[in-house]
Amino acid sequence: MKKYRCRACGSQSLEQFLSLGMMPVANAFLAKNDLGKKEFKFELSVGFCENCKMVQLIRTVDKRMLFNSNYAYFSSVSKTMEEHFKRFADELTKRFLKNNEIVIEIGCNDGIMLKNFDRDKYKVLGVEPSGNVADAARKRGLEVISEFFNEKLAKDVLRKSGKAKVICAANVMCHIEAFHEVVKGVKTLLDKNGVLVFEDPYIVDILEKNAYDQIYDEHVFYFSVLSLRNLFGQYGMEIFDCQRQTTHGGSMRYYVCNKGDYAVDASVTKAIIEEQGKSLEKIATYQKFADNVNRSREMLVDLIKKIKSQNKRITGYAASSKGTVVLNYCSITNRDIEYISDNTPTKIGLYSPGTHIPIVSEDVFHRNPPDYALLLAWNYANEIKEKEKNTGVKFIVHIPYARVI
Ligand code: SAH
Ligand code: ZN
Repeated sequence: MKKYRCRACGSQSLEQFLSLGMMPVANAFLAKNDLGKKEFKFELSVGFCENCKMVQLIRTVDKRMLFNSNYAYFSSVSKTMEEHFKRFADELTKRFLKNNEIVIEIGCNDGIMLKNFDRDKYKVLGVEPSGNVADAARKRGLEVISEFFNEKLAKDVLRKSGKAKVICAANVMCHIEAFHEVVKGVKTLLDKNGVLVFEDPYIVDILEKNAYDQIYDEHVFYFSVLSLRNLFGQYGMEIFDCQRQTTHGGSMRYYVCNKGDYAVDASVTKAIIEEQGKSLEKIATYQKFADNVNRSREMLVDLIKKIKSQNKRITGYAASSKGTVVLNYCSITNRDIEYISDNTPTKIGLYSPGTHIPIVSEDVFHRNPPDYALLLAWNYANEIKEKEKNTGVKFIVHIPYARVI
């Protein structure tokens, strides 16, 4: 079996366990004019490093192609996430911040989290390379540097503002191929007793929910406590607390400090024992996941075929990046799905990457509801079911296996 170089530990121990085939960029929604043109595609495949246990993409897409002024994801479109980040900011404030200290968020997007910190008491700074979402944060009065976070940027910030007590990030660290650059930058910037707190989709949830649609171009890494412990260990840092979150289909929040600054909470040992119990250190676990993913595809394809044969109408609900993965991997196109409804204004009028299904507003969905809607944002199932309960539309979910809910 061919082995690749691991981005986390540098050894030639990365082994592929799953390919989702040729895939467009998940958020590369197309304008009508682009439909005839050739789309950029790459093979979306993931591997496991036997040496340091890090799960990661085999091939990646240039970050400037993903994070630019056309970034499609505005964090604040979800009410669930608004509430989540309010609680997250409150916790960081109470637990770590004293007056006049600095909090920096890496990948602050439209300011969904940072806006919750009291700017009269603390210095609040965002780093956000995608210009359009950074502008949205600035409109809220937040100070944002529109660049990729790395060691050089950290040194600039250090000169201008001084050391940070809290550096936080949500759904960002797993996006950054140059993870070592980020850790070096964090080390540069962290004050005495400073903390790095970040959260990302958790590999245990991905495996247990069969959530293969978490795998796409933007997600380079799929973290476990085990793999991150190895990574931060290279820098004299350690995870001193970790807490599971229900967001994005199941995430883990990691609290990291320079070794010895904080007492290590029992949650860390507990998580490691659990991960070992689930054989996260063995490639066989990931090969089994790959089998489940294949089966999930067969079931979804069969279910859609069956519904179509009854002459029922099917649409997609939410033009998410997860949706791009599911539709392309399962070869579901504009022949199977009439339209995808979404509430992000910038996506409406465009077409889904690879599968060319028109994206329409939620008004269209409400005016002309289908018989079935394929839920392409299963992580918001509760929020969506509640919102659409009066439409009579039946929702199809594809994971852990395809069914009507
Ligand atoms: N924190 C928000 C946004 C997540 S989307 C939330 O949880 O909703 C990921 C964000 O990370 C994007 O806004 C992207 O522009 C940003 N990002 C990607 N690479 C980055 C880097 N190297 N430094 C800082 N931000 C980055
Ligand atoms: Zn490795």
